[in-house]
Amino acid sequence: MDNIDAKIDELIKRLNKANFEYYTLDQPTITDQEYDSLMDELIHLESQYPSKVREDSPTIRIGGEVISDFKKVTHSIPMMSLGDIFNEEEIKEFDEKIRKTIKNPEYVCELKIDGLSVSLVYENGKLIRGSTRGDGVVGEDITHNVKTIKNVPLSLPNNINVEVRGEIYMPKDSFEKLNEYRIKKGEKEFANPRNAAAGSVRQLDSKVSAERNLSTFMYHLPLADNYNIKTQEEALKFMKDLTFTVNPNIVKVNNIKDLMNYIDYWKENRNSLPYEIDGIVIKVNSFADQRKLGVTAKTPKWAIAYKFPAEEVLTKLNNIEFCVGRTGKITPRADLDPVRLQGSIVRSATLNNQDYIKEKDIRIGDIVSIRKAGDVIPEVVEVKKERRTGKELVFKMIENCPICGTKLIKKEDEVAYFCPNLECDARNIEGLIHFSSRDAMNIEGFGQSIVEDFYNIGYLRSISDYYNLKDHKETLMELEGFGEKSINNLLDNVENSKKNSLEKLLFGLGIKHVGKKTAQILSEHYLTLDRLMEAKIEDLSSIPDIGSTIANSIIDYFSNEKNKELINNLKSNNVNMSFTIKEKNMNKMFEDKTFVLTGTLSSLTRNEAKDLIESLGGKNTSSVSRKTDVVIAGASPGNKYDEAVKLGITIWTEEDFIKYSGR
Ligand code: NAD
Repeated sequence: MDNIDAKIDELIKRLNKANFEYYTLDQPTITDQEYDSLMDELIHLESQYPSKVREDSPTIRIGGEVISDFKKVTHSIPMMSLGDIFNEEEIKEFDEKIRKTIKNPEYVCELKIDGLSVSLVYENGKLIRGSTRGDGVVGEDITHNVKTIKNVPLSLPNNINVEVRGEIYMPKDSFEKLNEYRIKKGEKEFANPRNAAAGSVRQLDSKVSAERNLSTFMYHLPLADNYNIKTQEEALKFMKDLTFTVNPNIVKVNNIKDLMNYIDYWKENRNSLPYEIDGIVIKVNSFADQRKLGVTAKTPKWAIAYKFPAEEVLTKLNNIEFCVGRTGKITPRADLDPVRLQGSIVRSATLNNQDYIKEKDIRIGDIVSIRKAGDVIPEVVEVKKERRTGKELVFKMIENCPICGTKLIKKEDEVAYFCPNLECDARNIEGLIHFSSRDAMNIEGFGQSIVEDFYNIGYLRSISDYYNLKDHKETLMELEGFGEKSINNLLDNVENSKKNSLEKLLFGLGIKHVGKKTAQILSEHYLTLDRLMEAKIEDLSSIPDIGSTIANSIIDYFSNEKNKELINNLKSNNVNMSFTIKEKNMNKMFEDKTFVLTGTLSSLTRNEAKDLIESLGGKNTSSVSRKTDVVIAGASPGNKYDEAVKLGITIWTEEDFIKYSGR
């Protein structure tokens, strides 16, 4: 058996086991998201290797297995499942596919009730049979239990023969009461209301299910033609008129925008419902259109289930790896079994630092819950200790850099370990990626893999090498996966970055403790890199918001010969080194700010300068204090200049003043 066969075999085994536990025992041992991820993986593999699709594959069989205690019922028309989608893009794809067959489709959107489907058959207006979906073709007879559900009519207002289908569910409050009761009695809790509902209708003793307070919503009329009904909308109304409970939260839409509004609304408000929903079902309204679209083995092509993302999902932590950041900081990272989280597949999550791992006692092999921190970077939140098998490995912090092997150091006041080697490849690569990142020089196209490639061939070893890449154009074009056009694009992006304002360059240099905000403050204050480089520690620390740690780090950085050389290289490549104020922010440089003039101005008189400041919304004062925002220094400035330096106040030259005033 090759690797693919083995993987498919493993997935089928795991999914079939999950199906049995879920549908037959009503006691799942993995979460729905874990199940959906495994299923996703299997679908993906099968689509890559169609010849390997097995007959017992859960991708083509509906999950339920019919257990022997119940009478079997063969459905006259198979009870299908629904295809799943998880994000807006997939919704658009679904719509596009439909539009290939149907010109202007109308959709009925319904809540996806988290219960189990049921078929109710009436003869001469009397309920004669209730059955589960089972494997879609053969289900179980649960008539005795269905009769105990209060909103299932035992007889209809007229004597018709009809089959209706819908969902049996357990309202949230009944579910909570049931679980409390089970805990008291020492029984196992139900994982969710769906399993509780399924467990309840599949009781041999109908007294038990009567106590469980189940309820129903009906949403499907299989033989609508018999009643001359042409659309889902009419079918819902027909069932309502027959006294079935139909969910009231249904809309008809004919465009993606309205569809998304409905989805977004229920994503936000689902908790206000007294029952669980796990998504939205989108159905083509017209039955004639539905027939044109047809069905697959397991699901109709005219309907789809959009599933809400789970905020937290469970998955297995396979390994703990260590990343080296641009400052040398070591961050442990969890290598996970791929799992879908808020619409995307997550394979790794941050573990912050070694103390975090120890505090939570996170072990290799653990089942962990993960969520997206700030909705972007996933993090491991919790360990499911009850799911340990004893084979999990206790975490041990590494002692050497995983990339260059240098012994790691830990400073007293920091939690993290650092690789002290300034030449460490990992640090260099991260530093280069940081330089091109959006908030820094915003050189589009230089993501992890391109930077690594260019680094490894030796053309991009230092930040200033970005600006020498053009000299290697011919060779770069020859690289696999690149061509003239893509290299030209990259080089254009590099070229454009030369015009960036100082704060972007300053942030991009990656000076320790100089984040985006600090870079902005420093740039507005010093206006040019030269002036910042000349600043003394006391100048820097007197600037509001710049503490001594930042000030020291800046001094350290610019006193390093290699860094000075880097700045010179950038200068000789004509990279802009001054703060450029955006046109629309021009007035902000003056508005509500307090100015002091000192020294002699050459292009305008003192009074002209004062008028100009006031016309732009600024205020003139004569003495320098902590309240002064800017000192404008002409030739031979006096004490006011020294005072401004002492207090860390922004100083403009006459040239700066003229430039910012827009004259
Ligand atoms: P499904 O629940 O994803 O969707 C189809 C079902 O939705 C229908 O059969 C119907 O019962 C229900 N439904 C609710 N409201 C509806 C509406 N308005 N219109 C139409 N149908 C509506 O599919 P499924 O085949 O019942 O179950 C598969 C899912 O069950 C998996 O995706 C997984 O999430 C879960 N599962 C979990 C495990 C586990 O071990 N945790 C195992 C098996 C299955």
